[in-house]
Amino acid sequence: MFLLTCWHQIVYPGGSGKTSAARIFAAALNCLSHKGKNVKKPCGECQECTLFFARRSRDVKEVDSVSLNKAENLRYIIKNAMLPPVSSSFKAFIIDECQLMQGSTWSTLVNSLEEECHRIIFIMITPDLSKLPRGEIHGSQRFHFPKIKESDIVQRLEKICLEEGLDYDQNALEFIATRSNGSLRDGEMTLEQLSLLGKRITISLTYELIGIVSGDELLELLALALSPDTSNTVKRAAELMRSRIDPMQLISQLAILIMDILFGKFHEKISDVKRQFFERHTCEYTCITLTLYINPWYHQ
Ligand SMILES: [Zn+2]
Repeated sequence: MFLLTCWHQIVYPGGSGKTSAARIFAAALNCLSHKGKNVKKPCGECQECTLFFARRSRDVKEVDSVSLNKAENLRYIIKNAMLPPVSSSFKAFIIDECQLMQGSTWSTLVNSLEEECHRIIFIMITPDLSKLPRGEIHGSQRFHFPKIKESDIVQRLEKICLEEGLDYDQNALEFIATRSNGSLRDGEMTLEQLSLLGKRITISLTYELIGIVSGDELLELLALALSPDTSNTVKRAAELMRSRIDPMQLISQLAILIMDILFGKFHEKISDVKRQFFERHTCEYTCITLTLYINPWYHQ
């Protein structure tokens, strides 16, 4: 058995092209136009490629990793793998999110197929290699797929907007890319959901969908918190949480905002709300600036 493991080094969702690469790899192995030659890419035209891309190949299967934890499903796959390929050179099984397979599933699968011929290939895909049992993946070939750059995600989202006739604000697409954590799939899904809410992809619509508070709203809440108006502070925080945001998310955003003010990063792209905030809280700001000045740690 030849066990190929595609993996992603960092614990983030997919979307960096692992699944697509696995499919192309499986197709390339069986492509008839490359028979006996070095395989570079599937031709897309031969009988095997046609069957594969129409999802009718009986020799390439995509298997749900969680379902394999059921003994009967696992037995079925192992039995199927033992049979020779119907028409292709190789039998290929693509298992996405393979970290969801239990340890016993791994050992049964690997032990059962250990003695079999070299025409069976398992392409295992995971975003987290550390969750796989070391002993079972020993000797497998591994490919690392890095995260996609934010600028590339933005470019792709722009292209989709143009193709779909969607108006967009550039900062909204940049924000979606930042939140996608290098996953094109996540970015595209967010854009798709936003397109159902309105024809224009704006930053406020994006905030609303993702469930976060805008910078100006946060600053207004902080200004209230710094004022003696406790009742309105609690009321505003409750309103925000009731409307869309998780309390932990709100606290985390507030903590980041305060750190940004302390590090002087919040003066970038100053808005009216920011200007009003600093005019109203000159004293607090002076104290913060003074702290920064006398404490060199903050400059590190
Ligand atoms: Zn082909």
